[in-house]
Amino acid sequence: LKASDSLSFLLSLQAEMSRPVQARRLEGIDKNIWVEFVKLAATYSKVNLGQGFPDFPAPDFVTEAFTRALSGGNHMLHQYTRGFGHPPLVKVLAQFYEKLLGRDLDPMTNVMVTVGAYQALFCCFQALVDEGDEVIIIEPFFDCYEPMVKMAGGTPVFVPLRLNPPKDGKLMSSANWQLDPAELASKFNERTKAIVLNSPNNPLGKVFSRGELGLIAELCVKHDVLCISDEVYEWLVYDGKQHIRMASMQGMWDRTVIIGSAGKTFSVTGWKVGWAVGPDRLLQHLRTVHQNSVYHCATIAQEAMAEGFQRELMLYGKPESYFVQLPKELQQKRDWLVQSLDAVGMKPIVPEGTYFLVADISQFKSDVPDVPNSDEPYDYRFAKWMVKNKGLAAIPLSAFYSEAHKNNHTNFIRFCFAKEEATLKAANDILQKWKQEKTSS
Ligand code: PMP
Repeated sequence: LKASDSLSFLLSLQAEMSRPVQARRLEGIDKNIWVEFVKLAATYSKVNLGQGFPDFPAPDFVTEAFTRALSGGNHMLHQYTRGFGHPPLVKVLAQFYEKLLGRDLDPMTNVMVTVGAYQALFCCFQALVDEGDEVIIIEPFFDCYEPMVKMAGGTPVFVPLRLNPPKDGKLMSSANWQLDPAELASKFNERTKAIVLNSPNNPLGKVFSRGELGLIAELCVKHDVLCISDEVYEWLVYDGKQHIRMASMQGMWDRTVIIGSAGKTFSVTGWKVGWAVGPDRLLQHLRTVHQNSVYHCATIAQEAMAEGFQRELMLYGKPESYFVQLPKELQQKRDWLVQSLDAVGMKPIVPEGTYFLVADISQFKSDVPDVPNSDEPYDYRFAKWMVKNKGLAAIPLSAFYSEAHKNNHTNFIRFCFAKEEATLKAANDILQKWKQEKTSS
């Protein structure tokens, strides 16, 4: 062997023998529902009711504000702004939440602007959860909570919403999914650091009642537990229901971080502006994570959002308010999709909030036979088959359950109805045609 050959042989050995590159905290969380299903929808779907985003335009007042910020006279809007939130935005968010919570807020210490609600959540877990801490997550849940808790070194502890079906033959409602008080209480112990509450809940659309929030609040106070309150769908509630804020429950302001999202609030998911609102004793630690990771979210988007909130503050509670108009329009869209699904026997669970709707696919099982003992839950296979064969994209409900509980919830899929009337009609056409094929075969 020549010297150069032996060197390259040694180097190749070293490459093979090198230690794992991936940090241990990523083990088991590398698979992601959105990567897989967003790709499937892009490849096959004719009608995409999968991922949660509106396909209708954002309101003019926010897009115009964005354009003004972009090409108006203030060239400084192209530069860094205050890291913890552009001053006009944190000021108006503080004013807004003062109204909602009935307490004084300091824009500089009680509000932080983030890159979407995702980053606000990430800051919460990184800032507040330690190795060995337990975090209670109510199932079904927005999927990123589990990996975020794990990346912080914490242990997720799951407690399910259980379905109590209506007895009178009525359509199921998200309100039929309830916590068992004794089961919930049994999850709290001295290791519990926080509970994640998502009301209105993605994927079910459940809007937690005052009684349910009271139950959670009591346990949080009793066990000195924090609440990460993901309220990104706070304006999307229907049928005259009211969104109740955990931070307004007795004893909870001091231990709650509220998470919000401009994407959901103003139908601009691509802007990725979110925020956290809470007491300084919690937010100061979120600021440390934010400062040392992201630092900052796009100035122009924040400026435009500030204008959006100023308008909404002026029109608060009035019929012209976007926060009044959007839920009205979405309720109509919800009802169309409920009718379409009910008509073909894909039984809908009527959501009280959010822009998602979960439906029961049991009656369609003959089209996509189950494969016993498969690694893949049935609803995954069904949703994949549906997008490939019918062109209709939806998300399997078991994606919103922990690994251990996935296989108990494989008869449902989630649709997003924040879509143009034409999109929902196209979905209806697909479902009707499918139903006809089923009856004639
Ligand atoms: N929380 C929930 C419950 C969500 O559904 C979403 C978005 N699907 C987020 C947080 C993330 O919001 P954003 O797009 O503002 O990051």
